[in-house]
Amino acid sequence: MIKKLKAAIFTGANKPFEIKEFDITPPKKGMARLDLEASGVCGTDVHFHTGKLLLEPPKVIGHEYVGRVVDISEEDSKKFGINAGDVAIVDIACPCGECKLCKSGDDANCVNMAVTNGGNPYEVPYFHGGFAETTYAPIENLIKLPENVDPLAACVFACPGPTAIHAFNLAKKAGVDLSDVSLAVVQGTGPVGCMAIAYLKALNVKKIFALVADITNDNLNLVKKLGADDIIDVKNKSDAEIGELIKNASDGLGADLVFEASGNPKAIPTGFEILRNRGVYLVPGQYSNSGEISIMPQLITFKALHIIGSSQYNICDVKEYVDFISKDFKLQEIIKSLASCYTVSDINVAFDDAKARKNIKTVLVKEG
Ligand SMILES: [Zn+2]
Ligand SMILES: [Zn+2]
Repeated sequence: MIKKLKAAIFTGANKPFEIKEFDITPPKKGMARLDLEASGVCGTDVHFHTGKLLLEPPKVIGHEYVGRVVDISEEDSKKFGINAGDVAIVDIACPCGECKLCKSGDDANCVNMAVTNGGNPYEVPYFHGGFAETTYAPIENLIKLPENVDPLAACVFACPGPTAIHAFNLAKKAGVDLSDVSLAVVQGTGPVGCMAIAYLKALNVKKIFALVADITNDNLNLVKKLGADDIIDVKNKSDAEIGELIKNASDGLGADLVFEASGNPKAIPTGFEILRNRGVYLVPGQYSNSGEISIMPQLITFKALHIIGSSQYNICDVKEYVDFISKDFKLQEIIKSLASCYTVSDINVAFDDAKARKNIKTVLVKEG
């Protein structure tokens, strides 16, 4: 009997995913097939499903896939140094390599960006994206996990990790000396914010504060474990009051660096307020249209702020993320504990729970 495996088909905004079984076919040259170890539900996927980001159905979405290579030709195996049995993260980005951005090293923001998971699930090889029990990917898009990296841990921050790292890398590219940061503030404690805290801690930043709209024991314990010194509840506090707290913690100066990971437009004027003169504002978190906000643009001038937007990441950031967590077993244990696991068949429950913010990280894993 021909083996069939399941894929969850995105059928449109606010519609249930359909679970379908498809045949397994051999991968084309340059491609490998990987069986599911863990596949994360990203905020972007939730935005697709609520219709905040538009996406044409039908598709197999999901871009945080960690899988075990089960089918690869001998020739490709030799060429790419990837073997059957290896576990790898699939990076879905396919920059063109030709445009001005690609040529200047900014391929994360290629103007002709294609993705590996854009195919029609009713066309061979059916399994294009991450919400499936198996997937096909170009081998050049695979980042192999070393033995000391847990596949589930790697999956939890598979996209938030490189997203945060990319923002820091853009700062370095813009000449920011991150070793000079002594007080940093992270706005939001979702996966991107958590990764930013862990990264800042690894940089030995002296004081790290997290700003949240809702303190719970869970997020308090989590950010402290990741290395934040304190958490500030921004609810019912004016920007001036928050600014005062940060100034008091920094000899009256303000924050050297603020990292926006809340996605709340209101975070932006707060960021302007708490930064010191010539402070650096990294903004990778505003990932959907969540409304307008009034700002005081004169603060950009008066404080001579250095504002750096960041979107997407490239395959080097994914590699850097894997290297980063491979050095820190404790960090892997912490991030692994954030996963709430479901099977592909349970994807609709997984999405309901993700939308209801029941989980810090929703992950699909193999059955049994
Ligand atoms: Zn993502
Ligand atoms: Zn390009």
